[in-house]
Amino acid sequence: MADMDDQLLWIHGTYVAPDQGQYFDTFNPATGEKICRVAEAGQSDVDKAVASASKGQAEWAAMSGAERGRVLVKTAQLLREHCDALARLESLDGGKPIAETPEADVGSAADCLEFFGGQAASLHGEYQSVPGGFFYTRPEPVGICAGIGAWNYPIQIAAWKSAPALAAGNAMLFKPAELTPLTALKLAELYQQAGLPDGVFNVIQGMADTGKMLTAHPGIAKISLTGEVGTGKAVMRAAADSLKSVTLELGGKSPLIIFDDADLDNAVSAAMLGNFYTQGQICTNSTRVFVHESIREAFVQKLVARTQKLKLGDPLSPDTDVGPMVSADHMAGVLGYIDKGKQEGGKVLTGGGRATNPGLENGNFVEPTIFDNLDDTMTIVREEIFGPVLSLLAFSSEQEVLERANASEFGLAGGVFTKDIQRAHRVAEKMDAGIVWINQYNLTPVEMPFGGFKQSGIGKENSRRAFEHYTRLKTVYVAEGDVDAPY
Ligand code: NDP
Repeated sequence: MADMDDQLLWIHGTYVAPDQGQYFDTFNPATGEKICRVAEAGQSDVDKAVASASKGQAEWAAMSGAERGRVLVKTAQLLREHCDALARLESLDGGKPIAETPEADVGSAADCLEFFGGQAASLHGEYQSVPGGFFYTRPEPVGICAGIGAWNYPIQIAAWKSAPALAAGNAMLFKPAELTPLTALKLAELYQQAGLPDGVFNVIQGMADTGKMLTAHPGIAKISLTGEVGTGKAVMRAAADSLKSVTLELGGKSPLIIFDDADLDNAVSAAMLGNFYTQGQICTNSTRVFVHESIREAFVQKLVARTQKLKLGDPLSPDTDVGPMVSADHMAGVLGYIDKGKQEGGKVLTGGGRATNPGLENGNFVEPTIFDNLDDTMTIVREEIFGPVLSLLAFSSEQEVLERANASEFGLAGGVFTKDIQRAHRVAEKMDAGIVWINQYNLTPVEMPFGGFKQSGIGKENSRRAFEHYTRLKTVYVAEGDVDAPY
């Protein structure tokens, strides 16, 4: 794989080289080796892609919902047929363990295409009688949408954005993150094989500058971004100039609250999944684990023992639990937070540094790390780290823990473990977060709306709610009588 060909742009159903001849490199984060060069789109490439999308969208929107749905369902089938190769490519490019990528990445992308394929024929308006007549509404496609992806779930994000957009009759220009540019191109190939008209899904590669060309482009009606809070704000500001609508899926610092009556083993599993899956690079992660003081010792013992069994290693090896950080820069950032945690008085219970065991020394590996002896004001408890760093916090009462859990600029997600059904729902209601799991963590079935409150974002992905962001609602009034004019 190290000598993979240059990866080009995908515009109007074919690979094209960038007009300016600019390329960037993508690397294997487990070894530091270059995988290939990737084309970087400039303004003229973006203009071409928009012109192509305009043609494609007209053809696509003229097809029935059922016809569009069939293309999406067929693409889902193709994703499943090519699952092994796609999962390997995702693991190679992003460092995600191969134990995860077939299901969590390729499988969830396929689920999403299947779901929206099934929904495409069901988009409908409403009818209501009103004085003098009636009105009806028409959910219409917004036109050309841009999807801008983060690097942690590359093919899943490409599917989560394109499936509802396409089901509703839009075209999409998708820009993957520069760190994980490869699998979106494969999705484009599979869309084409499934019968998607040329231009309906174009892939524009590049850096933040290419993203800015999308947010500024007058031909694009909507932006859906997954990324950091700062990027979300920049995108929203830029989109304001041409009044594009935006969906923003941003960062988080989510609380997991474990009460004294919780099933301890399940709670430990959830805390581990919510901090170490995908090396902790998940936006909804439960990075603040609040444990009731009466069960704290037992919980910590189990958590540390199980965390110490996690196997770091080659992402392509089936028994690897934890792969590398996506890039050397990102690893440096995560290690910086770990140092800061130590400096501010946090006590490391396990992990706490870079992993350089034989075979890992050239990769960006960080040990799964658990911090204790923290308070809510410390940097690592307040800021998103986006790595395998779990912060343990103790609490004594429900009211106290809710106040502390909600005292964050973020509001993406949260979890509660308890056997008390009334308390579970009470806490879910009071949690200031867009997604709450009761006795579970980080499961995101496509049927369920996904999106954050406060600085964690705007809008919802997945579920039928996603259509609200990819359609514009037209109201048509129909008179049933004469025009009653006073003059
Ligand atoms: P970034 O915000 O750095 O980048 C996201 C995307 O935006 C990339 O494609 C990036 O390009 C592009 N971009 C950067 N600047 C601009 C700009 N000014 N205008 C337009 N596009 C721009 O996020 P990361 O890729 O580092 O992803 C990690 C972040 O994503 C974390 O904060 C995480 O919480 C969040 N996230 C949120 C999720 C959610 O659903 N709520 C899910 C997954 C991640 P380039 O890559 O070339 O810099």
